[in-house]
Amino acid sequence: MSDRTARMEALTAVARWHEHKTLNGKPMENAHEFFGRDVFSERVMRERLPKEIFKRVQQTIRLGAPLDPTIADTVANAMKDWALENGATHYTHWFQPMTGLTAEKHDSFLSPDGAGGVITEFSGDQLTQGEPDASSFPSGGIRATFEARGYTAWDATSPVWLKRGTNSVTLCIPTAFVSYGGEALDKKTPLLRSMDALSTQAMRLLKIFGADAGVSRVFATCGAEQEYFLIDRRYYFSRRDLIMTNRTVFGAPSSKDQQLDDHYFGAIPERVQAFMADSESELYALGIPIKTRHNEVSPAQYEVAPQFENANIAADHQQIIMQTMKRVAPKYGFQCLLHEKPFAGVNGSGKHINWSLATDTGVNLLDPRDETHTNLQFLVFLTAVIRAVDMHAGMLRASVASAGNDHRLGANEAPPAIISIFLGDMLQDIVDQLIAGSAKSTKTGGMMDLGANTLPDIPRDTGDRNRTSPFAFTGNKFEFRACGASHSVAWPTTVLNAIVAESLDWMAGELEKSLGANPTPAKVKTVASALLKKVLKEHKRVIFNGDNYTDEWHAEAAKRGLPNLKNTPEALPVLLTRESGSLFRKYKILSKVELESRFTIYAEQYATQIKIEAETMVNMARTQMLPAAVRFQGQIAEAVGATEAANVDCADLRVGLEEFCDLASRFRQAVNALEAAVDQDHPEDPEKHMLSLRDHVVPRMNDARELGDRLEGMIADDLWPLPTYTEMLFVR
Ligand code: ADP
Ligand code: MG
Repeated sequence: MSDRTARMEALTAVARWHEHKTLNGKPMENAHEFFGRDVFSERVMRERLPKEIFKRVQQTIRLGAPLDPTIADTVANAMKDWALENGATHYTHWFQPMTGLTAEKHDSFLSPDGAGGVITEFSGDQLTQGEPDASSFPSGGIRATFEARGYTAWDATSPVWLKRGTNSVTLCIPTAFVSYGGEALDKKTPLLRSMDALSTQAMRLLKIFGADAGVSRVFATCGAEQEYFLIDRRYYFSRRDLIMTNRTVFGAPSSKDQQLDDHYFGAIPERVQAFMADSESELYALGIPIKTRHNEVSPAQYEVAPQFENANIAADHQQIIMQTMKRVAPKYGFQCLLHEKPFAGVNGSGKHINWSLATDTGVNLLDPRDETHTNLQFLVFLTAVIRAVDMHAGMLRASVASAGNDHRLGANEAPPAIISIFLGDMLQDIVDQLIAGSAKSTKTGGMMDLGANTLPDIPRDTGDRNRTSPFAFTGNKFEFRACGASHSVAWPTTVLNAIVAESLDWMAGELEKSLGANPTPAKVKTVASALLKKVLKEHKRVIFNGDNYTDEWHAEAAKRGLPNLKNTPEALPVLLTRESGSLFRKYKILSKVELESRFTIYAEQYATQIKIEAETMVNMARTQMLPAAVRFQGQIAEAVGATEAANVDCADLRVGLEEFCDLASRFRQAVNALEAAVDQDHPEDPEKHMLSLRDHVVPRMNDARELGDRLEGMIADDLWPLPTYTEMLFVR
């Protein structure tokens, strides 16, 4: 079958789907009863565990109290019964190694009973601890491959769930993953440690403001908006680059893409809506509260956002969301692309981390409330975040560095690589007042008269939104927009928690020092106001409310001394600085070795990714694109020959042939140059290796792409072997 036929078949198949909806998913059941059906939730535990034991598990879940090992057997048994009743045959310790993905090794509940039958077994030990062979997970030098031991430990604060697949149901137990020496080999362990640090420091501030009564713990909350692309799966299989690298390394732009803004928030295409409803119902069953869905800026791009949760649970759920979308998409003939930039020239995909702090009694500590200028406690928390982001902007930037995200950050459609904070009019006004002396008023938005009698007056927000800021205050939370669509949110959230914990610690220390024992509310007010003034003055340079995409801002940011770490090779070394090391050590989030190992792993991932992409380009050019060019060249040459033989003038066709030959030849040379650059001996040192790839390989990739895309624009469509941007972005 020719490539052309395959591409036409894809189109026909899509049309067929729309006629018959043969792949339609199961209907959404009554959402209330359905929600969390496959979760070993507190509700299930209450039904199945003795009261005393349930209470103790609840203490761990809600307050982060250490889990009592003596109750593990009882919990494990109840869990097993529930799992078996729901069709499970196996269990797995589910963890998040440094690959950024998740890992699982299944064990059966069944054991031979020695009398020709089987018994089901699941002990407390099997629940709380596991020992998968850890030899092939990235450790960044923490351990050699011959040292294979790694341990998983149950994270009782994140719900156990049932993974349903074709012919299988597996009990998944969220776990942390550490080495024989106890070093974190995963993304969950440091996140949990950072949550502890944050809680301890935030509690100190609450105490100062007398707001700690009844509060046992403060959590980071996270709600991550996920952007993604859906393209017809048959095109995916015809694109080696998508299969190997999750992005198109070649591809001429489509004449129409997002210029008309006609896709954003548009009516959701029928087949896409069917996919969304099906994946959401699966996520509902796992207790993952999906809230929002809509079309995004680029054609074929969409977004999904869950209701926010405790950041540790949100990070687990984020992984499940990505996996579920990838798994459900093929049922509707789609491939779900989570890469940061699957298509050049159109919007890339991010994952906005909405982040705040909440007490276990449900108070959002970043809620400014009315009369914000009097809400000193809020202003102290806010100022602590401002200080943290200013002091550790580089670290925050480094937490989202990857080869994929390099296509987004700094390009003109995603937040720039310069980290700054957007506060909005109301808070900016209060900050100005605080710096000038004291805050006396809060700006209000007032009401908006829409001019038509039948329309209601609506309250105006106190500030407009800012879509260009990498770190924006959005009413009662911050939105960190620089995270990439394919990333785990665990690491950037860990960094955010860590830097804010440090800032809260410092602010609490300053306040405690000046306040002494038994301070009056009046004294707290004076001392806190003075501290806010000082800190805001020092760190206000990180605040920027304007358009982050402009050249003026880049110049201004440089003047203010804000770091601009443009790409991964520039950003990652921040992990190796003394400040970063001592920050993570001080709050026991990562030891020096653990932090350095992360640098090594991320640097290796960058290098490997670039090399795979470059090699994929060479391969596609040599075996798909250049052969098509030769065929096309032959066809024109034949036409020239035949036309001239018939004594008809075809000077323009001859010129066209010459131009085409010239372009094809330059493309061939560019591919040779790219191959030579990849094959070059690169330095072993990870930092130098990254820089060498950035400076010698990436530019050759860009050259080859430019010429390859021009060829695509000239070769006859029936000879072109690859699905085009128009097909991939517009067939739905
Ligand atoms: P946007 O207008 O920014 O696209 P969305 O409605 O798509 O907003 O998503 C907002 C996200 O912010 C949701 O996931 C929501 O649950 C989350 N969110 C709201 N409040 C908080 C909070 N206090 N802490 C963390 N995340 C929050
Ligand atoms: Mg959104």
